[in-house]
Amino acid sequence: MQRRRVLRPDAPLLRRAPGEVQVGTDPRWSVRLAGLDPDDEAWLRELASPSARRGAGAEQATTSGRRAALVRLLDEAHLLVPARRKRPDSPAPGKGEADLAVLSALRADGAGHRVLAARSRATVAVVGLGRLGAGLAVHLATAGVGTLVLGDPGAVLTTDVGVGAYRLRDVGSPRATAVQRLVGEVAPGVVTAVVPETGAGTVGYGAPPPDVVVVVEHGAADPGRVARLVGEGVAHLSVVVREADVVVGPFVRPGVDPCLTCVELHRADVDPCWPQLARQLRGRTLPAGEESLLAASAAAAALGQVLAALDGLVPRAATACIEIPAPDAVPRLRETSRHPRCGCGELARTPPDGAPLPMSGRRRGAD
Ligand SMILES: [Zn+2]
Repeated sequence: MQRRRVLRPDAPLLRRAPGEVQVGTDPRWSVRLAGLDPDDEAWLRELASPSARRGAGAEQATTSGRRAALVRLLDEAHLLVPARRKRPDSPAPGKGEADLAVLSALRADGAGHRVLAARSRATVAVVGLGRLGAGLAVHLATAGVGTLVLGDPGAVLTTDVGVGAYRLRDVGSPRATAVQRLVGEVAPGVVTAVVPETGAGTVGYGAPPPDVVVVVEHGAADPGRVARLVGEGVAHLSVVVREADVVVGPFVRPGVDPCLTCVELHRADVDPCWPQLARQLRGRTLPAGEESLLAASAAAAALGQVLAALDGLVPRAATACIEIPAPDAVPRLRETSRHPRCGCGELARTPPDGAPLPMSGRRRGAD
């Protein structure tokens, strides 16, 4: 038996003119229905009202040719969803109810609770917890990611406070434990762990490996730090805070996407001196602040890439670096591709398009 369906509760039903309505406003799915008689309009209003979740659904209309055509139109626009929406089970604040409408709208089956359920089973590591990384960690908890692994060798500075997560009371505390406490205050159901991170060696994480590791660095990315992640097939996102912009990407699914070394080799093709410049940038020991706008904007951009991957989509940063510049933070994309001299292509066992994200326990290069 077919499930009873109603108009998606978060898509507004708007009257445009006599006999003409519009369902939804997002151009990706909104539809305009014209030539309606008063009975049709009343039927649509009933289908959109909260009481529709108890009464008859769209299927009641399928015996009538006219209504059947309306149902077909709404169906094609994915505007019909099961009458009873499952409540999410998520460690996010309010069990993720605030995110449910949008997540449901993005799925043909309207089952946003499944996205939240998948996020609650995921683990993300954030290494480098300045304003940007701390903000990202709290955003991930807010979005319902179940486990966070946190790494940073430093203590909270007064310049870390504000944008992101830190408060004045955190100044002087180890950054990782301060973020752990802040996540606990926002989403107590999120599991957190602190890993030792020297800031100079390879990126560490607990076992089993996270689904995604985010590495926030300053000046220039260091492919050597993520070599272990590439070898073990752990997806990772590079975020680099530069003089007046932040680069979010590449998001590397090892063996599937261009890696950090590919990006560095391409850059050295354009500027043969780049490797020595990058070495100097990585070696700078000045305390590096993270400007307010850039930290806030880049944390949001990084959040989008990580959640896309966890939600089963291909992150845009898998094939492009997202450059976010001051003063307006309007992102621009710099496309990336595999470099012929990088060996990361040998890890490839699946085609690049639509390939599933390597997740914990299904690691490429380790099986
Ligand atoms: Zn590569």
